[in-house]
Amino acid sequence: SRLLAATENNEDAALDASIRPQRLAEYLGQVPVREQLGLYIEAARKRGEALDHVLIFGPPGLGKTTLSHIIANEMGVNLRSTSGPVLERAGDLAALLTNLEPRDVLFVDEIHRLSPVVEEVLYPALEDFQIDIMIGEGPAARSIKLDLPPFTLVGATTRAGLLTGPLRDRFGIVQRLEFYSVEELTQIVRRAARILGIHCAADGAIEIARRARGTPRIANRLLRRVRDYAEVRADGEITRAVADAALLMLKVDAEGFDDSDRRLLRVILDTFEGGPVGVESLAAALSEDRGTIEDVLEPYLLQQGFLMRTARGRMATAKAWRHFGLAPPRPAPG
Ligand code: ADP
Repeated sequence: SRLLAATENNEDAALDASIRPQRLAEYLGQVPVREQLGLYIEAARKRGEALDHVLIFGPPGLGKTTLSHIIANEMGVNLRSTSGPVLERAGDLAALLTNLEPRDVLFVDEIHRLSPVVEEVLYPALEDFQIDIMIGEGPAARSIKLDLPPFTLVGATTRAGLLTGPLRDRFGIVQRLEFYSVEELTQIVRRAARILGIHCAADGAIEIARRARGTPRIANRLLRRVRDYAEVRADGEITRAVADAALLMLKVDAEGFDDSDRRLLRVILDTFEGGPVGVESLAAALSEDRGTIEDVLEPYLLQQGFLMRTARGRMATAKAWRHFGLAPPRPAPG
């Protein structure tokens, strides 16, 4: 799988248990999110109430799942986790909801992928802590109302725009995660190195952070790959030079781009003369699916100013041309 993919792989999942922050105070970066959530949690705790439903959105690997764990820990309640595509039938959701204890947190990852029937069951659960379930079939079928304990739904999605309006409206707290700065990622790398017993010099941590696409999951993954290199090709310590050599071997360039990023940019520059190009044409030219381009590849390139989104499609910026040693075209007359 792609080294720089922000989505989780098996190796990440295995390590998550040891390095995933458990408390708000260990959650680095995302200062506004931490401050606001901290306040809401404290207030809900003081009142002895469930926290309002929380919607967290942002690109993969930025800490949505981690936050759901932290919310449950800080509230001192249980966490139940599931995801939109897993909840196929209304009964799947009903079973989960009826097993919650008061103030528990239910985490639904990829909440934009809930089926419409499941979403229908969710509305009254979120608003009135009640669900309607159907018993029996055919003419004898009837619906009964069940009361639920007050609970907190924490929904995660890569883009808020993917949610239906009615679902979005039922969240009292909406938090957007941003890409992390190099300084924040450096702290994350140093923390993970400490926990995993990896020798990482200060400048080595910075080098990894600079090339991790603003994403903690990628930073942690690069740390492990660079450690392998440091142990085999150097004396075990991750210095800036070691990190640089390792990342070069892994084809992660100075901007933290890999082959997929460079391919995307090159197609826009070479095939579409810098754009604008619609995302469908881009997907066809790259043989990638549109979702991968929009959720995984593009966000970081946009945020870093290599790509621009215009009404007519994506355009490469002057920065993108220069990244490949090319002169940006002069702006079209008029
Ligand atoms: P998402 O659910 O958004 O895809 P995760 O919550 O699974 O992302 O985060 C991926 C990994 O990155 C976590 O296992 C954790 O170790 C690390 N991580 C995420 N956010 C932070 C943070 N704010 N501080 C420290 N580590 C973080």
